[in-house]
Amino acid sequence: MIEKLLIASHNQGKVREIAVLLAPFDIATVGAAELGLPEPEETGDTFEANAALKAEAGAQASGLVALSDDSGLVVPAINGDPGIYSARWAGPARDFNFAMEQVQKALGTSKSPGDRAAHFVAVLALAWPDGRTQMFRGEVYGRLTWPPRGDRGFGYDPMFVPGGYDITFGEMDPDEKYRISHRARAFEKLVASPFLKG
Ligand code: IMP
Repeated sequence: MIEKLLIASHNQGKVREIAVLLAPFDIATVGAAELGLPEPEETGDTFEANAALKAEAGAQASGLVALSDDSGLVVPAINGDPGIYSARWAGPARDFNFAMEQVQKALGTSKSPGDRAAHFVAVLALAWPDGRTQMFRGEVYGRLTWPPRGDRGFGYDPMFVPGGYDITFGEMDPDEKYRISHRARAFEKLVASPFLKG
């Protein structure tokens, strides 16, 4: 039984979403920034590798079971970019208006609707201090719109319209986003696993 879980992330948007998703479980959570843990460098070349290295670093440093999320926006028409580099495209100032402009520029003036297909990926890694790690992947498919719309989300939310909707994640009620997001889908798999149970 996990009594206290480290959320191994320094991204407050993610920590908030994960805390909401964990609310129905009787598990206390603490964030990496609260414990003053360093942010490990993301040296992996897949979402899985980066999720694992963050969770494993958190579990080793804290002695707690640690949950991390590695996520990003994948745009097949531009070779899967920004992908695992989604945070880095925002530069040191973490400016996502700039990052969204880079995506829009990379897509150029293409009018083909297929070129604007995109999906978010989230991989959750749960790591134990004894070295075990389990991973869960979720995805949400949609398309990119321009100009960006809405200020209710974070990151690339204002340019992403999930399939079946005509509003962006930035315009969507956060509770609804939490239900359908890539992170929620990865979370469903985590919840269905035996690991959060006794
Ligand atoms: P990392 O997982 O910390 O490397 O960062 C992933 C980056 O992907 C975030 O900083 C966001 O820019 C982007 N991202 C991940 N999930 C979402 C989301 O739900 N909405 C918008 N952007 C996201």
